[in-house]
Amino acid sequence: MVQPGRGWWRSGLFLLLFTSCARNPAPPLAGPSHAPVLETPERVALIAAPVESDWNALGDEAAALLSRYIRINTTNPPGNEIVAARWLAAVLQRDGIEARIFEPAPGKANLYARLAGDGGARPLILLNHMDVVLASPEYWTVDPFSGVIKDGYVWGRGALDMKGEAVAQLMTMLILKRARVPLKRDVIFLATADEEIGAGVGAGWFVEHQRDLLRDAEFLLNEGGLTRSDGRGGVQFFGVGTTEKSPYWLDVTARGTAGHGSRPTPDNPVNRLVRALHKIADWQTPLLVTPTVARSFRDLATIERDTTVRRWLADIQTALRDSLAVRTLTSDLTYNALLRNTISITGLKGSDKTNVIPPIATAALDVRLLPGQEPAAFLTDLVRVVGDTAVTFKPQGPNWPATESSAETDMFRAITAVARARQANALVTTLMLPGFTDSHYFRRLGIQSYGLSPFPLSETDSRGVHGNDERVSLDALRFGVRFYYDVVSRVAGK
Ligand SMILES: [Zn+2]
Repeated sequence: MVQPGRGWWRSGLFLLLFTSCARNPAPPLAGPSHAPVLETPERVALIAAPVESDWNALGDEAAALLSRYIRINTTNPPGNEIVAARWLAAVLQRDGIEARIFEPAPGKANLYARLAGDGGARPLILLNHMDVVLASPEYWTVDPFSGVIKDGYVWGRGALDMKGEAVAQLMTMLILKRARVPLKRDVIFLATADEEIGAGVGAGWFVEHQRDLLRDAEFLLNEGGLTRSDGRGGVQFFGVGTTEKSPYWLDVTARGTAGHGSRPTPDNPVNRLVRALHKIADWQTPLLVTPTVARSFRDLATIERDTTVRRWLADIQTALRDSLAVRTLTSDLTYNALLRNTISITGLKGSDKTNVIPPIATAALDVRLLPGQEPAAFLTDLVRVVGDTAVTFKPQGPNWPATESSAETDMFRAITAVARARQANALVTTLMLPGFTDSHYFRRLGIQSYGLSPFPLSETDSRGVHGNDERVSLDALRFGVRFYYDVVSRVAGK
């Protein structure tokens, strides 16, 4: 029996699913590592753009920065991003880069810094979030906020998501400034709050209240990519996030007649709800192939070892007419999520009392729509599938259309060129995230936004994202800092 995916892509995307909107009601950790750490490490002097021999020292500087950054506990809630913002401002300031800190709420902050170009091209934004998700120290082998460097890794919450990527962006800013690299476009460093709670006063607030500072931007780089190491010191593929599914979270309410549990009512709303949810759980939403997914599958077919799966991935449209291919491919959770609108039933509530039939029963649905899908049309289908007028659906909040950034841009070409300079014939492909990041705020403004992960990660390393023992290897960090700088200097340098 063929086994699709072999985990190469699946597990990475599985993790990306969780890079946003974690809900962690537990309080932040207290303790010594909660104290702000404001010292900054040794700087590497540069008189011109870095040459081969500079990169080791720059990698060490990045590791020292990341270690200190991790020690600033920004577990959200409450985030306390103001401490991180002040530290980032101090690091930038030391190299003569002025940063502005916005404080939309007590303890919350967004930081904005800019290297000016000559206006020959439109600005590029480097976006990162300062907050991290909860870490439970009892499951870690190190203090999650120690930032300890040992066994060839920098350890701690945020090492990957996304203080590590932020440090690659930060180092890019510092190197461009130190080396006085002439720029044709502004390079903006934007560090935000509240990504991990999927709401609040972070990127969304900034786009709404400080849009002028982002005016005319052409490109944005953010989390949401996946660079998979081949386990032999090279890269298996570079996945660049060009689009994300759009969340369309729904509350379901069934109404009926309340009463005493000892005398069953024919229109018990709990029964109604269970019947409706049964239909929803059984509903096989249509399979749809979007251009990004078709391209990803085609590209990834070239490194697929199983000949049958390779044939399916190479022409997914045709494969989906074959029931064996459909069964096999959709049994892979990531493939399934990439090929259709999905529904997860995640919440359920009836009566608080066992002997009381409640007047209403409710459920929550986590719906994720593919790019190009209309929420209203999806809802019409859902209502038809349920077929009960006593069961109603209400969106939990505002939703947005899933938008897509082009792979035919100077940015995408630069990423491809830099990847191939590092590794001949490197596979660079587009990715669609089943989850979402803050990129949607910017894609909606027409900014071509990409998920770029500069660190080649093994599947084991990737598990640290929102998990235990999150860490990034010094090798990956060195690779990533240089990779990021090369991409940005290629796109923004004169
Ligand atoms: Zn993140």
